[in-house]
Amino acid sequence: MPELPEVETTRRGIAHDLVGHRVSDVVVRDRRLRWPIAAHLEATLRHQTVRSVDRRAKYILIRFDTGTLILHLGMSGSLRIIDAASAPRLHDHWDISLDTGRVLRFHDPRRFGSAHWTNADPHQHPLLKRLAPEPLSSAFDATYLFRATRKRAVAIKQFIMNSQVVVGVGNIYASEALFRAGVAPRRAARRLTRAQAGDLTVAIKAVLAEAINIGGTTLRDYVNPQGIPGYFRQRLFVYERQGQPCRRCRAPVKKFTQGQRSTFWCPACQR
Ligand SMILES: [Zn+2]
Repeated sequence: MPELPEVETTRRGIAHDLVGHRVSDVVVRDRRLRWPIAAHLEATLRHQTVRSVDRRAKYILIRFDTGTLILHLGMSGSLRIIDAASAPRLHDHWDISLDTGRVLRFHDPRRFGSAHWTNADPHQHPLLKRLAPEPLSSAFDATYLFRATRKRAVAIKQFIMNSQVVVGVGNIYASEALFRAGVAPRRAARRLTRAQAGDLTVAIKAVLAEAINIGGTTLRDYVNPQGIPGYFRQRLFVYERQGQPCRRCRAPVKKFTQGQRSTFWCPACQR
């Protein structure tokens, strides 16, 4: 599943080819995504100029003069910039063609992705308006996390993966950030110390920023079935390294299941 760094990498990868350019045509081959694509979308977008390409959580927001296209990649979706001459493959559900001869093409075998149009402020859209802070924003800091964790008995790993607490911290990044912060994944959220809240917010930001930077510099045309930027995998401390020596203390990395997700950690380094 594309995680926040992959979505941000995608946003950066497509923005240059879109911003300032006019839509010459829109072709929808299959409207049956997670929600049906609106029948008016082709007519609405045609002849409009892209003003910006932004991101909120794992949504990509393509802004035009009269509104915003809100895209989600779902479980298996990807966006690519291609030349107009490229023939569509199976599961290429829609194209937005630009007057430059370039095409934004959406590919999604499992069809959990989505495309919504809104004429209003996209941040007030039902999909977006209740989202928690962005992990890379200044709103997500030690004070915020420390306050949010008080009285919460849930394990800290599940807590930071809750999109009502902070958006976009997926399983890989949660395991890695907890390792870097030295916090045990099963620690009750309310038992997080003030210092740990600081270390954990710093670690979450660092691990996401690294993944974005690596993806952004090496994977312009990113598609990865696991949603892990290839080069980032080599830098992982614990994720999918069970039984291998901890990169910090050499003790074996452990794995267990938590909330139906695999958690990887080093019991010697994380408390
Ligand atoms: Zn260790």
